[in-house]
Amino acid sequence: MKVLFATSEAHPLAKTGGLADVSGALPAALQDVGVDARILMPGYPSALEKAENLSRVFRIDLPNHGETALLRGTFPGLGFPVYLIEHAGYYQREGLYQDKNTQDWQDNALRFGLLSQFAAWMSGPKSPVNFTPDILHCNDWQTGLAPAYLHFEEATPIPSVFTIHNIAYQGIFSPEVIAKLGLPKESFSVDGLEYYGNLSFLKAGLNYATRITTVSPNYAKEIQTEAFGMGFQGLLSARKSVLHGILNGIDTREWNPATDPHLYTPYSFENLAGKSSNKLSLQGELGMQCNAKTPLLGMVSRMAHQKGSDVVIEAAPKLLQMGAQLVVLGNGEQKLEAAWRKLANANPGQVAVFIGYDEGLAHRIEAGADMFLMPSRFEPCGLNQMYSLRYGTIPVVTRVGGLADTVIHASQENLNQGKANGFVIDHLDKNALAETINRALILFRHKLAWQKLMTNGMKKDFGWGKSAHQYLDLYREMLKVS
Ligand code: ADP
Repeated sequence: MKVLFATSEAHPLAKTGGLADVSGALPAALQDVGVDARILMPGYPSALEKAENLSRVFRIDLPNHGETALLRGTFPGLGFPVYLIEHAGYYQREGLYQDKNTQDWQDNALRFGLLSQFAAWMSGPKSPVNFTPDILHCNDWQTGLAPAYLHFEEATPIPSVFTIHNIAYQGIFSPEVIAKLGLPKESFSVDGLEYYGNLSFLKAGLNYATRITTVSPNYAKEIQTEAFGMGFQGLLSARKSVLHGILNGIDTREWNPATDPHLYTPYSFENLAGKSSNKLSLQGELGMQCNAKTPLLGMVSRMAHQKGSDVVIEAAPKLLQMGAQLVVLGNGEQKLEAAWRKLANANPGQVAVFIGYDEGLAHRIEAGADMFLMPSRFEPCGLNQMYSLRYGTIPVVTRVGGLADTVIHASQENLNQGKANGFVIDHLDKNALAETINRALILFRHKLAWQKLMTNGMKKDFGWGKSAHQYLDLYREMLKVS
């Protein structure tokens, strides 16, 4: 089984969010179950720097894009093949999708049109490389045009999978770019790429891929509804027979409290004392009073409306009254960043806020906090709640997307049955959040009950093995092989 995995980011080559975590880990997990999975992505500066054994396969002058080259290398540390598209004008800049003022790059249609075009080209009979995939696996809008190129250019295109990591990002551009992208005029129709007078890369992927997947079973259902489909619910309902939800895994090598180099002390469910010492060290690092009994609430996320951190800010006075400490790491929307800074300035020693991206601190928060707040308005899968479960940090989440698939609410019934591992809020607002945390704090004061919640999460297997098998089953079904 040979799979070309086309993506716009893959950790550790380049990362802005969860897509990179999946794209870095899933091809590796597919390799482990015997699939020859290879990544295709843009040759950003960080990718060129981190990929190993790079060599140029060919150079070409493309009519609409100019001088382009394809490099072949290997994935850092794991050695499976990675293809990088080298294009000085498109990819040699800081910022994957946006400039430093968080404005989308003006030429994103061309930048990711080129990625999509390469994905289709390498999947067809005229492939410029010595690798003929059985399946093309595309991810999010940046690779959405690839199934459309296959559809319009190949008599018998190979089957393709399009995975939705977040339907909020739809790759919408003015229709003028269609000609520059080398797509036929007839592709711009309501049954094709047109989305209310514009071109949508996402729609192309949803319409022309053989199968659609998304990153949790619950999100697969939600996106067929008006509340979560973001305009695509009709199309997705119409294609529901080919729509599957496969829960993401997490990288259990990188996120393992027993071996994590970012932590102060290693720990595991057999040695929970280590977690407590991470908490005390983190409180010290943050300039907070070091006290194991003071509840420490953590949050690591993009500061975007999706993530509900505005509701945490609204609920903060109540949380602080309850005696909690709050540590927040994230960046994104300026209004949210400013609101968090203001809250931290008003509550020194009780609220610590770090605006920026810091991998090490993210790990130390996961290890040191007692609870992890993730009150998302929607959440396709979510990774941080799984990191939290693995680190014995009780997740407090909303009942949406993958959060609902992974966090089992500490209701009396679930506690009695010994399966609860976190707290789930049904309808998000500041009162519901504060009430839920208040309830959680009652349990927090009962050490044994709290430890049971922690170990329920810590013992669960969130590795990629299970997901990789589900993708393999899907590929086999598409090829009708067993
Ligand atoms: P999304 O992809 O919507 O941003 P996920 O929970 O699926 O959300 O994945 C986010 C990933 O990015 C996680 O690995 C998380 O730890 C990481 N992350 C987000 N913001 C930061 C930050 N400011 N510093 C370090 N890591 C971050």
